[in-house]
Amino acid sequence: TPPHRPADLTAADRNAPAVHRLYIDGQFVSASDGATFDSLNPYTGEVWARAAAATDADVDAAVAAARRAFDDGPWGRSTPQQRAAVLRKLADLVAREAEHFARLESTDNGKLYREMVGQWRYLPEWFHYYAGLATSAVGAVLPSDKPNFVAHTRRDPVGVVAAITPWNSPGLLMIWKLAPALAAGCTFVVKPSEHTPVSTAAFAQLAHEAGLPAGVFNVVTGDGRVGERLVAHPDVDKVAFTGSDAVGRRIAQAASGHFARVSLELGGKSAQVVFDDAEPEHAANGVISGIFAATGQTCMAGSRLLVQRGIADAVVGAIVARARRIKLGDPSDPATEMGPAATRAQYDKILAMIADARAEGATVAFGGGPGEPGGLFVAPTVLTGVRSDMRIVRDEVFGPVLCVQTFDDEAEAVRLANDTRYGLAAGIWTTDVRRANRVALRLRAGSIWINAYRTVGPFAPFGGFGHSGIGRENGPEGLAEFQETKTIWTEL
Ligand code: NAD
Repeated sequence: TPPHRPADLTAADRNAPAVHRLYIDGQFVSASDGATFDSLNPYTGEVWARAAAATDADVDAAVAAARRAFDDGPWGRSTPQQRAAVLRKLADLVAREAEHFARLESTDNGKLYREMVGQWRYLPEWFHYYAGLATSAVGAVLPSDKPNFVAHTRRDPVGVVAAITPWNSPGLLMIWKLAPALAAGCTFVVKPSEHTPVSTAAFAQLAHEAGLPAGVFNVVTGDGRVGERLVAHPDVDKVAFTGSDAVGRRIAQAASGHFARVSLELGGKSAQVVFDDAEPEHAANGVISGIFAATGQTCMAGSRLLVQRGIADAVVGAIVARARRIKLGDPSDPATEMGPAATRAQYDKILAMIADARAEGATVAFGGGPGEPGGLFVAPTVLTGVRSDMRIVRDEVFGPVLCVQTFDDEAEAVRLANDTRYGLAAGIWTTDVRRANRVALRLRAGSIWINAYRTVGPFAPFGGFGHSGIGRENGPEGLAEFQETKTIWTEL
C-alpha cells in the first residue's frame, strides 16, 4: 500500500485539495486553460497528486503581480523591521508544519521521511538568520577625496525574482532563495520541478497565513517551458536557479536577453580524499553517507573517492561491507536507509551510466544494477578500477554510485580532486591537521569538510567553482545576491 494517499493533504493546505493550484497575486487559481499534470509517488509508481499546468498567460500574470507588488505595493516601501517580522512569522509556520511538509516531499520524491523532516525542522533557521541580517547595518560612508562632497552606499532590492528549483529538495532549495530575497525587499515567483510540485504549491498557504501582501510570493507549476517563459520575461530582474548545468546554461542565455542577474547552483562531482593516516571506520562512514544518503541524488554527493594506496583496501572493504547492509525500502519507514530513484528517467540514466562504466573497464566491487525491492530502486554501487577519462568519473550520475581511485601522495590527491569541470564540494579525511589545511587551501571547491561531510547552515555560504555554478546561497553573500549597490553623492 502507498505510504501516503492524497487524503493526507489536509491540515496545512486547507484551501488546496489534491489538485494543487497556482498562487498568483494572493489568490489560489487554476491554470487559465484548466490543464493539470500528474505527480507520481516514485515508491508506489502511483499518481498521488495533481498540479495546475501554468500557461504563458499565467506566468505573465504572476510576473505582473510581482512587478506591481514591488513597484507600487506596501512591500516595496516596507522597512527591514517589517520584513523581518514576516520572516519570523514564516519561521514559526514552517516549524509548525515541518512534519506535514516532510511527508509531502517524501511522497513526491521518494526521499526518506526522516531525512526530509530533519531538513524541514532546520529550515526556520533560514528565516531567522535573514530576519537578523535584514535588520543589521548595511551600507557605508565612503572616504571621499572631494572636500565638497559626501558619499554613501546603500543596498537596494534587485526587484522581481524568478526562482526555479529541482526535485531533490524542493522546499529547502526554495527557502534558501526566498528568505534572503524577502529580507532584501524583493518579490518572488517560484517554479518547482514538474516532478515535485506539491510542497511548493502547499507553501503558498504559509505565505498567505504569514500575511505577505498580494503579489509578493507567487507559485507557477509546470515543466521546463513554464520555467523558460519565466526566466525570459523582461520584467524579471533576477533569476535564482538550482538544477543541472545543461538547464543552467540555457537559463543564463535566456536571462541575458534583458540583463537579468543570474545565480546558478548546479551539479557536482565532488571528491572525498582519504589519506592513509585517517581513521578508516570514521572515513568509511563519512564516504558512505556522503554518497548513499538521498540515494546519491544530492548536488553535493561525494561521488569520487580518492584514497591513498596504503589504506585503500581497508577503506574500500569497510565501505563495501557497510553498503551490503544498507536497507532499501519504503521511504516512510524509519528503518529504511535508502529510497528509490526519484523518476524513471533518473533510474534509467543511473543504470546506463553504470553499464557504460563497465564497458569501459570499471570493476563492480558492489551493486551495479537494480536494487532488491524492484521498482525504481538502484543498488548502492561501488566501482573500482576507474580512470579519470571515463564518463562515470567526469559526469554527474545523481545516483548511488561511488567511483574509487587511488593516489600515492598529497600532490597527486590534489591533482585528481581538481581534475573536474565541477567544484561544488570536497571532503578531506586525515588526522594530520596541517595536511588537512594545506590540502583545503589547494582544492577548488565551494565547500570543504575536514573529517566530516555535508554539514550546511544559513550562515555558511554555499555554491560552486567552475561548472558547479555562479554565485553563493546562504550567509551574507546569499543576501547580496538579491541586492543592488547604490552610491549616493551629495554636494555640500
Ligand atoms: P533540471 O535542471 O532538469 O531541472 C531543474 C528545474 O529547471 C526544473 O524546475 C525544470 O522544470 C526547470 N527547467 C527545465 N528546463 C528549463 C528551461 N529551459 N528554462 C527554465 N527552467 C527549466 O534539474 P533536476 O533534474 O530537477 O535536478 C537535478 C540537478 O540539480 C542536478 O544536476 C543537481 O546537481 C542539481 N542540484 C544542484 C544543487 C546545488 O545547490 N548546487 C542542489 C540540488 C540539485
